[in-house]
Amino acid sequence: MPASSLENVVIIGSGPAAWTAAIYAARANLRPLVFEGEPVGTELPGGQLMLTTDIENFPGFPEPLSGPELMERIKAQAVHHGTRVVSELVKQVDFSQRPFTITPNYSEPVQAHTVIIATGAAAKWIGLESEIRLAQQGGGVSACAVCDGAMPFYRNKRLAVVGGGDTAMEEAMYLTKFASEVVIIHRRDSFRASKVMANRVLAHPKVRVIWNTQVTEVIGNEFITGLKLADTVTGAASELEVGGLFVAIGHTPNTKFLGGQIDITEHGYIKVASWRTATNIDGVFAAGDVIDDYYRQAITSAGTGCMAALEAERWLAHHGIEAPAAAGE
Ligand code: NAP
Repeated sequence: MPASSLENVVIIGSGPAAWTAAIYAARANLRPLVFEGEPVGTELPGGQLMLTTDIENFPGFPEPLSGPELMERIKAQAVHHGTRVVSELVKQVDFSQRPFTITPNYSEPVQAHTVIIATGAAAKWIGLESEIRLAQQGGGVSACAVCDGAMPFYRNKRLAVVGGGDTAMEEAMYLTKFASEVVIIHRRDSFRASKVMANRVLAHPKVRVIWNTQVTEVIGNEFITGLKLADTVTGAASELEVGGLFVAIGHTPNTKFLGGQIDITEHGYIKVASWRTATNIDGVFAAGDVIDDYYRQAITSAGTGCMAALEAERWLAHHGIEAPAAAGE
């Protein structure tokens, strides 16, 4: 990549939104450049799907495939159509002047007419070594019930959900379809969730709540077998046998590197125009979980990635910036 390259479209991110945007931009002959990031702790290029074992709800794959495998395939499709990839995190952007400047961690800054931000959101974890290990190895710890809860592994078992917000309520309700019992473990004595959602959960015959309690360890080497708990008021320790743990304590959209240049919602997600991916900065688009605190699915991310690429393409055409002919054409 030349030091002072001027790109049509720079895509930042590496989940389904980013690679789908890249497929569309590449097929539109825009030669997109993707900054796919680099591994940092539990954050891997590929995003949250890298921590998902079997995916059974992505259309077109009747046999389950793993999250990493799905990401590899979508990326391969983008690369096949001419996407260029830089395996670095973007540390800074400058949207105050056109063309925009994107500065990665190690290589030279890049300039771009349009930018698609698809950096996702990181699920929050409790932070226990046993929790992260079992989540990474597909051992029955997950941060997404809709993604993983329907797998045979979780059927007819007692499943625990940690959290007291709307996400925890939603995950708990969803899991009642499969579990023998759903136990919500919450660190306080009341839920933060909306009354209507909390009441629906509390009234469900399969749901039990353990109040004022936190998880201190996930028990199990290969697969989860139970939880070590501590009462947040008395400190009393106990154990609970479970066949799965769903951590539902919130998400953090990955927007820090934007340095406040893009408008965000009260929950920290990038604000986009209704049914569009345009941000408050003309020529900057956003897609995937970084704009979505509601659906958070691979397929919805892919859908908004497609939208962002089409909007970027139209933006370039509208401004008279023609895509260069591909080599050989
Ligand atoms: P949230 O509202 O921030 O709730 C997070 C919950 O996790 C809180 O109950 C919090 O406990 C608990 N928690 C946080 N850190 C923890 C830790 N380290 N250990 C144990 N527990 C911890 O997050 P959310 O539920 O993901 O919701 C985010 C936003 O999306 C909210 O505005 C919500 O209304 C919205 N949302 C809406 C829907 C819907 O309408 N269908 C669905 C999902 C989300 P404390 O209560 O003690 O702080």
